[in-house]
Amino acid sequence: MSKTESPIQRRRTVTVRIGDIGVGGDQPIRVQAMTNTDTADIESTVTQCAELARAGSELVRITVNNESAAAAVPHIRERLDAMAVKVPLIGDFHFNGHRLLSDYPACAEALAKYRINPGNVGRGAKRDSQFATMIEIACRYDRPVRIGVNWGSLDPDLVVRMMDTNARSPQPRPAELVMREAMVESAIGSALRAEELGLPRDHILLSCKMSGVQDLIAVYRALAQRSDHALHLGLTEAGMGSKGIVASTAAVSILLQEGIGDTIRISLTPAPGESRTREIIVAQEILQTMGLRSFAPMVAACPGCGRTTSTVFQELAEEIQAYLREQMPAWRETYPGVETMQVAVMGCVVNGPGESKQANIGISLPGTGEQPSAPVYIDGEKVTTLKGADIAGRFKQMVDEYVVEHYAAS
Ligand code: SF4
Repeated sequence: MSKTESPIQRRRTVTVRIGDIGVGGDQPIRVQAMTNTDTADIESTVTQCAELARAGSELVRITVNNESAAAAVPHIRERLDAMAVKVPLIGDFHFNGHRLLSDYPACAEALAKYRINPGNVGRGAKRDSQFATMIEIACRYDRPVRIGVNWGSLDPDLVVRMMDTNARSPQPRPAELVMREAMVESAIGSALRAEELGLPRDHILLSCKMSGVQDLIAVYRALAQRSDHALHLGLTEAGMGSKGIVASTAAVSILLQEGIGDTIRISLTPAPGESRTREIIVAQEILQTMGLRSFAPMVAACPGCGRTTSTVFQELAEEIQAYLREQMPAWRETYPGVETMQVAVMGCVVNGPGESKQANIGISLPGTGEQPSAPVYIDGEKVTTLKGADIAGRFKQMVDEYVVEHYAAS
């Protein structure tokens, strides 16, 4: 990976404060995640919020879907504070948010931001009054709001109105384009309404999540043209495994490259029993590989080929990447800048020495039929050749020494 600065020019947006975190403006692009525990289950929700925060989630969203959940929120906040986990909590509200925020003031106060889906705040006259109630509470507690439009729950009254207008026009456009426009309209219109109700402009973020990559790109480009609000970016219902990662990365990366997006969430469906932190790692790796932010040292590893017939090389690459991530919570405090370190683990002499020289520290393992020795390069120079049984252990030790020597706080 290039060590040069990213050439990406970010779009100018209004900065929003969410607890101690700034989003938009000159702030770094923030990584966030959402829990999948029952919020009323305080123990599990606290555990997962802490796990997500420790993995690097700078904001954590929790669903607030009923009275038990609303009653649990202040206790979740207290427990996290007692554990010194300061991550701001965002409440995700649909259908009954106006009532829960009114009836549970301690919940309204414990949350650092409210997510309001304008398609799920009620229909007709109720819609306006229920939306107004939520905005008034946000003003009372000085909390920012994300107007979070979602393809799957787009305001049906707005869609009908826009479809009718389109049908009556001399040259009706395809329904898909009208739907995209309705997404943007819902977000911008709701933000304007929130401002009219007294919510300051710098207390509003927008999102328009869709599950199609091209739809998402088109909608966010339109949103970015029409507004300077900070934008929360993410492909909704991205799916499981590699499909979810690839679809999210494709959509989010194109927009980030155009300077669009102030905070991202990668919505992956975890496999049963899989840690929720995967979405954080993917989000961080997108930002880091694009040169937008650094979170943890990255390992460059070749894919391996017929020259690497044993598993030694894959095992070492995996072990080193996992080791670097594990060290980061402690290293972040003690060794500032270590997150930009680049490590190479290469499979043979063909590209191994060249790639290893580009890294801060790199090792080129012996391929099939090569001498059983592994040259190590530091800052472009060959410093030693490791041989014998414990090449992995000694390379890790050299990585540790490099970190202490080059990143110890002065
Ligand atoms: S560096 Fe060697 S082992 Fe790795 S892919 Fe290239 S030729 Fe194969």
